[in-house]
Amino acid sequence: MTPPPARPPAPTRTDPAGLDPAGPVVAVLGGGQLGRMLGLAGIPLGLNFRFLDPSPSATAQAIGPVRVAALEDETAARAVATGARVVTWEWEGIPAATARAAAAHAPVRPDPRALEVAQDRLVEKTTFVRLGIDVPTFAAVDDQAGLRAALDTVGLPAVLKTRRGGYDGKGQRVLRDAGDVDGAWAALGGAPLILEELVPFQRELSVLAVRGLTGETACYPLIETEHGDGVLRACRAPAPWVDEERQEAGFAIAARLLTELDYVGLLTVELFDCGDRLLANEFAPRVHNSGHWTIEGSVTSQFENHLRAILGWPLGATTGRGHSGLVNLLGALPDREQLLAIEDAHLHDYRKAPHPGRKVGHVTVIADTAEGRDRRLAAVRAVVDSTPPPSPPTRGRQQSG
Ligand code: AMP
Repeated sequence: MTPPPARPPAPTRTDPAGLDPAGPVVAVLGGGQLGRMLGLAGIPLGLNFRFLDPSPSATAQAIGPVRVAALEDETAARAVATGARVVTWEWEGIPAATARAAAAHAPVRPDPRALEVAQDRLVEKTTFVRLGIDVPTFAAVDDQAGLRAALDTVGLPAVLKTRRGGYDGKGQRVLRDAGDVDGAWAALGGAPLILEELVPFQRELSVLAVRGLTGETACYPLIETEHGDGVLRACRAPAPWVDEERQEAGFAIAARLLTELDYVGLLTVELFDCGDRLLANEFAPRVHNSGHWTIEGSVTSQFENHLRAILGWPLGATTGRGHSGLVNLLGALPDREQLLAIEDAHLHDYRKAPHPGRKVGHVTVIADTAEGRDRRLAAVRAVVDSTPPPSPPTRGRQQSG
């Protein structure tokens, strides 16, 4: 009897392009909601994620393994980076040294220099000025005599801010008149500070732009943002009353920074709209809360475009799908069913423990017209406003994104 023909060899799972058959791994420094949403955008693209975060209950653990360690832990950063296709971060507070340690094992994108510039308000503002970007009048403050000198330059009303570590309105005091100066110094003095004029802006805007590995750039429509107590509450995109010239001016600001920092990935610049000009307040070298609407409201979300950029893949279109609005859910999640009863409302629950002021989720609404979007936004706000605040306290890192 003739033996059966030899079986053809089992196909190997080796990708001809040399890709890991299990899919490339993206290592993310930080495991908050931005890391989680990066993962939610990347999984359909065939990506795997792992995270470094100090919290054992980091919300990104739903996406991939979290190495629980301090963000200063360079050994942990190296371990998370080993074998990854690329390393990125989801929080601008990541120490640049941690990102550089990871770079010994995988490319880190964006370049960690962006962290150093964004982490110090004085370096950030002087970088804006060097790039020809308008900013509020400001002066460095190192001691009480320096504060008096800065008040002479900047005048009142003004905002005194810590140079490092402040976010979402934390680490800052408004000085309306001379009587506020001593109290602000008592609260913040001792750390390096910056004094800025209190800008009588008409509204706040943000611009999100992305730059790929080969230098191509794309910009999302300008976004109108609304803050309360320094925290983003809501936004509308595209921002109403933005003509082409204003859109271009916003993009030009972001593009200068992208080029200066040889940036790969998505960054956000927060702007004060003063009518005749745009002033840059600060930038975030990462995906941003004011861009969460892009998940449903744009052809390509900010999260997907950040991933495409850092992986060297083609960028996706940044065009909006109609008119979008976003409401942040702070403190505790409102009633799900009431939110979902609103037409074209999309709930994002970050699965974070309730805590006063904590960002626990957001809702995006989409409509064909600006008026329709505003009606849906109002409906979401009504549900949010009727939600009782949670009782304190629980622990966990608040994230500015
Ligand atoms: P920041 O932490 O710098 O993003 O500030 C948080 C919020 O405080 C901003 O979104 C503004 O609403 C307000 N703010 C910060 N700096 C100024 C300023 N120089 N003039 C007016 N408002 C400011």
